[in-house]
Amino acid sequence: MANGNCDVVIVGGGLGGAALGRALAIHGIRVLIVERETSFKDRVRGEGMLPWGVVEARALCIDGLLFESGAREIRWWKRYLGSVARDGRDLMATTPGRCGCLNFYHPSMQSTLLDAAEAAGAEVRRGTAVVAVEPGNAPIVTLRSDKRDERVSARLVVGADGRRSIVRSVAGFVSNQDPARLVIAGVLHEGLAAPDDAVQYFQNPPLGQGALLFPLGKQRFRSYFVSSTSQRARPISGSQHVGVFIDACVETGMPRDWYAGASVAGPLAAFPGASWVDHPYREGVVLVGDAAATSDPSWCGLALTLRDVRVLRDCLLATDDWHAAAHAYAQQHDKYYGALHRVEDWLTRLMYETGPIADERRAHAMPHLAKEPSRAPDLQGLGPETPSDDEARRRFFAEDVGSTAILTRP
Ligand SMILES: Cc1cc2nc3c(=O)[nH]c(=O)nc-3n(C[C@H](O)[C@H](O)[C@H](O)COP(=O)(O)OP(=O)(O)OC[C@H]3O[C@@H](n4cnc5c(N)ncnc54)[C@H](O)[C@@H]3O)c2cc1C
Repeated sequence: MANGNCDVVIVGGGLGGAALGRALAIHGIRVLIVERETSFKDRVRGEGMLPWGVVEARALCIDGLLFESGAREIRWWKRYLGSVARDGRDLMATTPGRCGCLNFYHPSMQSTLLDAAEAAGAEVRRGTAVVAVEPGNAPIVTLRSDKRDERVSARLVVGADGRRSIVRSVAGFVSNQDPARLVIAGVLHEGLAAPDDAVQYFQNPPLGQGALLFPLGKQRFRSYFVSSTSQRARPISGSQHVGVFIDACVETGMPRDWYAGASVAGPLAAFPGASWVDHPYREGVVLVGDAAATSDPSWCGLALTLRDVRVLRDCLLATDDWHAAAHAYAQQHDKYYGALHRVEDWLTRLMYETGPIADERRAHAMPHLAKEPSRAPDLQGLGPETPSDDEARRRFFAEDVGSTAILTRP
């Protein structure tokens, strides 16, 4: 197919590209997926999909495939303030989709979904990179493998090529970036002595830090450390800094003895927070997943990527006018990403900002949140559908009760 024309060229065979390729190919659409890697290794990416993402996975009929790739559904979400247990949420009982957090080893998930796209009829070119894109009515991509270039045209080009998307830059999209606030560092641990029936989330607002553990089974855990850039000038990155990473997690609240017999089974890398494109469609080129938008911290990314895939699939299947369909997707993307972005901003302000004003804001809001948990956005269960209007913001910061003077200050 790549020697002729195809309907859709998808750049990137990650969660977004593979899931979309499969979803379109099963409807008879001629799909070419171009993936620069021949096999997948640990790149320190998301391994815990929030329950609203699991609902998207079901809508795309890939939940079974995720389980085949080794995914485990984790029932509990436990939160701590420093080392003190705050609460434990039974996700399966309390989320609208009645599902837990779906945890998986990212490289296994990618291989399984890319194989499934191929089995559904998509052509998959591994070890091939897209190096240029020419937007237009019949957009053209240039593929490069073994130093040979080839041009392929399509009705639609999809940039599913991740955080450092080449498609985004060469197709002329303007990328927005929040001021640096949070950095997330991650590593894969083996032999960690933490309980494996819950996502463990330790938050230490006075230090501007958070630490998370996503159990993957057999005492393997994906560990993340989130820190405010105002508190920690240097991100923790590189395997020589594993000790610093563990110390930072312990300082946040994790028990030191969990790490006693632990070893590291992959790279340690750190990444900055949100960036996004407004209206991620122009002239025959559409962006999905991290190429379109990343969240801050990044733990909505898997769910957001599947939301993109499901919405774009539905728009494309609904009409032959793909230009209008891609605009419709981009409009919806602005709405749901905008909602997530707002809510994550509130959570960051409350839980990661440091200093006297932030302390005062917490001293006021946290007792109300403890008394009435429904004041907090439901990022796990509702995702972007959690209320994010001004009234929801006022309730979250408890501005509807007591003095608000300090709370509205930036
Ligand atoms: C440290 C960290 C922690 C995270 N934690 C979570 C979490 O707990 N929960 C959660 O939901 N999300 C999390 N995320 C986000 C999640 O990993 C991403 O949102 C998700 O992987 C995005 O999928 P994608 O398919 O858009 O991009 P990617 O997974 O990045 O896939 C892009 C693919 O495109 C390929 N590619 C790139 N350029 C080219 C090219 N020029 N030609 C051909 N192929 C190309 C790449 O090889 C790759 O396979 C985290 C992210 C980070 C960085």
